[in-house]
Amino acid sequence: MEIITKVNQMQMLAKDIKKNNRSIGLVPTMGYLHEGHLTLVRASKRDTDVTVVSIFVNPIQFGPKEDFSRYPRDFERDRSMLEKECVDYIFYPSIDEMYQPDFSTTINVEGVTKNLCGASRPGHFQGVTTVVGKLFNIVLPDKAYFGEKDYQQLVTIKKMVKDLNFPIEIIGMPIVRENDGLAMSSRNSYLSEEERKSALCLYKSILLAKEMVIMGKKNIKDIIIAIEELIKKTPFTKIDYVKICDPETLECIEDGNIDGKKLLALAVFIGNTRLIDNAILEG
Ligand code: AMP
Repeated sequence: MEIITKVNQMQMLAKDIKKNNRSIGLVPTMGYLHEGHLTLVRASKRDTDVTVVSIFVNPIQFGPKEDFSRYPRDFERDRSMLEKECVDYIFYPSIDEMYQPDFSTTINVEGVTKNLCGASRPGHFQGVTTVVGKLFNIVLPDKAYFGEKDYQQLVTIKKMVKDLNFPIEIIGMPIVRENDGLAMSSRNSYLSEEERKSALCLYKSILLAKEMVIMGKKNIKDIIIAIEELIKKTPFTKIDYVKICDPETLECIEDGNIDGKKLLALAVFIGNTRLIDNAILEG
């Protein structure tokens, strides 16, 4: 496994790999890896000849009051986890390497970024699509792997790839959870022991919604109210949003019943830690 820190070197390597007719799989991450990341890595190892994992805490996707500076980082731990997975390259650039002082170009996907985290975190998805677009041009992957945990991100990247004709297949992978159901996230490391218990309210909300649908209680307003009640009675919580949307357009649906597939998406502060989760409800 090789660690590449320079854009030019990564791009030259990628061109060489392609020249030899070998396929490249890219797994973009912000590091502090867990099993969720590793399922993406394993899928890339299975599908492609050469796997590149990027580790870059991307400053432009964090708002001014968000957790960029305290985001967990442990490169040595990540390196050893990826070595065990027999990853070929880690792309590990510095901020200066990715963003020159005169950097002034961004990618903005409209529509699917309007609601959910797009509404709560202005500029977030523009930061994500800009860095992912850059990574695509640097690593030249044939396939790139993203988790359904960040469902809106996955939909946004797919739209960017379609609209801008990136010759890349985007592969979404299911959410990996802890044994008790909490979706794995690097941000779970912020939680105190008590907050960790409260964090389970996101998964409990999903179970509650699924149960209501199975019991024939498919009214969207009722499901949202029931979830809000469950979360509000959990200590340390503050709801950012509880929404039910179209899984493709991400338009929020306020009225009517669950029919066909609908996305339940949640963002909840547990203390100062903002966690997200989602599930497809099938009416
Ligand atoms: P991050 O390092 O948080 O930016 O995540 C890097 C990639 O891993 C993204 O595509 C995430 O959606 C994905 N990911 C993060 N957590 C999980 C999880 N629990 N299950 C599946 N994929 C995940």
